[in-house]
Amino acid sequence: MIIMKSDKLLEAPSLIRLRCGFTQNDWGKIGSESLVFQLSNSNKVDQNAPYAELWMGSHDLHPSQDYETREWLRDIFQSHPSLLSRPIDHWFNRQLPFLFKVLSIESAICIQAHPDKTLAKQLHMSDPITYPEQEKDSHHKPEMIVALTPFEALCGFRPFPEIASFLAHLSPLRRLIGTPAHEFMVLASQGTSDSLQEIATVKRAWEALLRAPQEQIVACTRELLILVESDEIHQLAGWEVLRGLITRLHRQYPDDVGLFTIFFMNYVSLAPGKALFVSPNELHSYLSGDAVECMASSANVVRGGFTRKQKDIDTLISMASYSCSARVLPRILPHNPHVVSTRGAVSSVLYQTPAEEFDVAKIDLRSHDAQIQLAPIHGPSIVICIQGRGEIHAGNQMGDINHGSVFFIGAGNAASMRNNTAGSDLVLFQALCDSRGL
Ligand SMILES: [Zn+2]
Repeated sequence: MIIMKSDKLLEAPSLIRLRCGFTQNDWGKIGSESLVFQLSNSNKVDQNAPYAELWMGSHDLHPSQDYETREWLRDIFQSHPSLLSRPIDHWFNRQLPFLFKVLSIESAICIQAHPDKTLAKQLHMSDPITYPEQEKDSHHKPEMIVALTPFEALCGFRPFPEIASFLAHLSPLRRLIGTPAHEFMVLASQGTSDSLQEIATVKRAWEALLRAPQEQIVACTRELLILVESDEIHQLAGWEVLRGLITRLHRQYPDDVGLFTIFFMNYVSLAPGKALFVSPNELHSYLSGDAVECMASSANVVRGGFTRKQKDIDTLISMASYSCSARVLPRILPHNPHVVSTRGAVSSVLYQTPAEEFDVAKIDLRSHDAQIQLAPIHGPSIVICIQGRGEIHAGNQMGDINHGSVFFIGAGNAASMRNNTAGSDLVLFQALCDSRGL
């Protein structure tokens, strides 16, 4: 319940408690085990159903509402564009620039990449059946994961020598790829470092993999599983981790080409609190764990393996960025620069991204009565409570924070949060867009 401190309702609300939608994709954790269900504030659980993603924002697929009045957040922006700030209202057409999510992942999410703005428009024009959303949603979609539990992902291409080493040691992988695998190994053995030639070679091998006939995938999967059981390959770097992964992914998606992509893509393991940033056109797949995720407000996706949905191999091959250079990491600022003052045991970290649409802050109020005061942000923000209870104040309004509470804070409002429960941390994540960066 939001309480007004003064009788006089200001033109635009400063704080709006949100009611948020969730998705039930089949890769989500099941029933009350899923963090998404736990945070959803739904009082009825289907213990056999997956709860995959909580969506916080104004995206058309699962838009958030004012918790009390049920008014859509996007309609509130129509009446009160100042909630977004003038530059963001102008640049993002009266919409939130970001979409904030919580993910709870039981089995791998499809291998995918998100198009840039030009490609998103082209895809809709050429194939409106596969890409119906792109007409309204021609946005690019950089995204960032912040792990809440140990979290696994595949992201971007491995360094050239690593892929070459897998090709040299794993005959089923070589056989599946055919001639481009041999070209790959010849180039690797020459030891030259012509990056353009390397990129072209990675692309040819990747294309051969994604276009491999299904009967060959089935046969090579059998051979790979026999290798996993044997002790033949023990000298290969990282093999022990990959053995477990191969068995698990094959159980989740039997005879899927995605199984072989783990030899091309970086395997990333994040400890809680660590983050991963994914640029537009960068291949990725999230494999397991709970996380908050923030992205430019878009649902545009092109799919490869690990999916029962429509794949678009041609587009995925042509759009992917084939550079094997190191991943872009978000900048983690241990002292959130938006913090004005604190009381008690408080920490706040800012995950600053290269994307203009969003950054994410984590706020941890560890002692009873611990409090944090945040400077007004020159743009909108959304806060979710992952753990504990407390109070939030923004402008002239306040609300009670419970597990799973989600609040929108309008642009230009100073905000503060307080932990009011002994013996428990109050842990909040805040997605924000600061228009000074635009
Ligand atoms: Zn993605």
